[in-house]
Amino acid sequence: MKPTGKIRQNEGMNDIDYLRISLIDRCNFRCQYCMPEGTDLTYALQRNLLTQEELLSLIREVFIPVGFSRFRLTGGEPLIRPGVVEIVRAIASMSETQDLAMTTNAFLLADLAQDLYDAGLRRINISLDSLKAEVFDQIIGNRGRSRWQQVWNGIQAAHRVGFDPLKLNVVVIPSVNDAEVLDLAALSIDRNWHVRFIEFMPIGNDDLFQDRGWVSSEELRCRIRDRWGLTDGQVRGNGPADVFQIPGAKGTLGFISQMSECFCDRCNRMRLSADGWLRPCLLNETGQIDLRSQLRSGVPLHELRQQVRELVLLKPEINYKERDSGTTGRYSRTMSQIGG
Ligand code: SAM
Ligand code: SF4
Repeated sequence: MKPTGKIRQNEGMNDIDYLRISLIDRCNFRCQYCMPEGTDLTYALQRNLLTQEELLSLIREVFIPVGFSRFRLTGGEPLIRPGVVEIVRAIASMSETQDLAMTTNAFLLADLAQDLYDAGLRRINISLDSLKAEVFDQIIGNRGRSRWQQVWNGIQAAHRVGFDPLKLNVVVIPSVNDAEVLDLAALSIDRNWHVRFIEFMPIGNDDLFQDRGWVSSEELRCRIRDRWGLTDGQVRGNGPADVFQIPGAKGTLGFISQMSECFCDRCNRMRLSADGWLRPCLLNETGQIDLRSQLRSGVPLHELRQQVRELVLLKPEINYKERDSGTTGRYSRTMSQIGG
């Protein structure tokens, strides 16, 4: 578990050592806030997705030597990527990997939780926006048989298998699920679960965002504080969440406030899209590198390492540029396309 040639940022900056890896840009859900109906989503062609060998080679030969040691698998929906368990096993078994986590909608998790755990995954974040089946189905764009129970079964399976911490992600949308905030927060009382409220962002969902607006973390904290009180809390992870706890609760509450607060100066992450583009920032494409094309056309690995190193060094500047332009601009690509 030795950190490699980690690149140190300027004083006061975090070391950039955390890579979010999108395994696939497709999803088995169509959440209103992420892939709104009516949006013409263009998916990467199958032949343009990084193969398992290419992905693992980039991690082993490029990202780890440059100093990355913490990885999160995401998407689209990572559990629909063929070979996901083998990918987890391969990354978990690299001696330089200090942390490996996944973000999933849990629809396929009940059957995969044990295999993923056995392959070396220990941390998992699951999206759960509602405890009411009909609201949940409306949010995920499901018109068939309800999918809520299967997702809940996936969460229970992850709990039984021993994922720790087990985090639940909730995107709060006014007049859709914001009335459930106390019920969702209450999940952290009797279980060692970490419920994280994420401010709704205008990424590829203009109509919904304009129609509903968003609720700030501070407002949510006020509601929760009025009901139970709130103390400071702590939870293991690499995230930008501000962590609190209902007094006496086993779990914690996290608030991710990217709309009301800029945390660019705390950001230690880069993103690798399923088709092999490395992005320095969720909201900013400046400087992004097409690693797949270069890998396939035989550009030597030492050159790719150098390009990644340069982008890491450029990242603080890119973040600050974005901060200057504010966080309320609209972004045409969805979270699922970028790799949320
Ligand atoms: N499919 C997986 C899932 O839903 O957990 C992983 C990919 S998803 C893009 C990753 C995270 O992005 C989820 O927690 C989701 O709630 C969040 N997300 C997607 N669109 C968002 C938006 N417009 N604002 C805030 N969070 C968003
Ligand atoms: Fe799929 Fe996750 Fe986006 Fe929902 S938030 S549509 S589950 S990628």
